Amino acid sequence: MTLSALVNPSVLTQPVYEPGKPIDDVARELGLDPAGILKLASNENPLGPSPLAVAAATRALAHGELYPDGGCFVLRQKLAARHGLAAEQFVVGNGSNELLELLGHVFLRPGDEVVMGAPAFIVYKLVTLLFGARPVEVPLVAHRHDLDALARAVTPRTKLVFLPSPNNPTGTANTEAEIHAFVRALPEQVVFVFDEAYAEYLDNPPDLRPLLSEGRKVIGLRTFSKIFGLASLRVGYGYTSAELAGLLNRVRQPFNVNAIGQAAAVAALDDTDFMARARATNATGLRQLSSALIVRGLEIVPSEANFLLVRVGDGARVFAELQRRGVIVRPMKPYGMPEWVRVTVGAPAQNERFLAALDQVFAT
Ligand SMILES: *Cc1c(COP(=O)(O)O)cnc(C)c1O
Repeated sequence: MTLSALVNPSVLTQPVYEPGKPIDDVARELGLDPAGILKLASNENPLGPSPLAVAAATRALAHGELYPDGGCFVLRQKLAARHGLAAEQFVVGNGSNELLELLGHVFLRPGDEVVMGAPAFIVYKLVTLLFGARPVEVPLVAHRHDLDALARAVTPRTKLVFLPSPNNPTGTANTEAEIHAFVRALPEQVVFVFDEAYAEYLDNPPDLRPLLSEGRKVIGLRTFSKIFGLASLRVGYGYTSAELAGLLNRVRQPFNVNAIGQAAAVAALDDTDFMARARATNATGLRQLSSALIVRGLEIVPSEANFLLVRVGDGARVFAELQRRGVIVRPMKPYGMPEWVRVTVGAPAQNERFLAALDQVFAT
């Protein structure tokens, strides 16, 4: 009997996530020096990690023999103070990607529907399919989530609605008023998942707390991977009702978040100077990249996040040619946008290098 005959059939049809190309892979494949490669493919922080977080992580490493605090006590206390909520309302994950999967564990069964925009973060669709549920994809309008269309896609079978704002890959955001009205009109059996991976780049991120106090079924997801610069350590969190936090805690692994990541995350929350620098660097870089691309006559999608969609014509070719020049961006074919690439906003010199490489590619 073949192995595949034994496998849960949905695993055989499960699509595979295509991450941003790692620097070492590109170096190996093209015979380049990894030190000279610039990765602008995964919306990572050009400032690196917060120095306070690195110091705390290093201290934690000295006790690598001990299991971590499976309840993330210190981190949840700190997050509770930051958001003005109770520690019981928080659940910490191995990146916010883990929380997306835990939502699938808690809510999804075959026959359920999950409403999401397209293009939006691909992991929503992967999680939906993993649990045998049906993704209901609603096209964006002018690269932005159309909440009226999303509301119309909700049926009695809908269990979850995913909304990232700012959205990845478009960088567009929805307003607080739009989001509040949308959630208040959702039927009772629907849980609203608000993915706020890039919320800290907004001047006024939408506040979910009024919805929580009204007893709405909502969860906000945040991550330490972007503005906090800790993508490698895999820490994200959700804030929601104590009841839903409890359900999510029930289905996670006992030690899902390692102690080094927990220590780094706690310290990063105190590093307000780093956060401010990261925001300022991004605002400057976003203006620099946007205007330089517009001057070149290229179409962009105005972004409120730390990345930018650029229409380059043949996205696969431009991706490959930039890579040959040591600059990694993200081709957008997996998101159904083959003419576009997504570029992370870097520090000023990194953005210049990307632009110079792009000019070379267009000159060929
Ligand atoms: C980067 C990103 C995340 C964060 O994922 P982690 O698992 O926390 O690293 C979540 N959602 C979106 C839309 C993202 O772009």
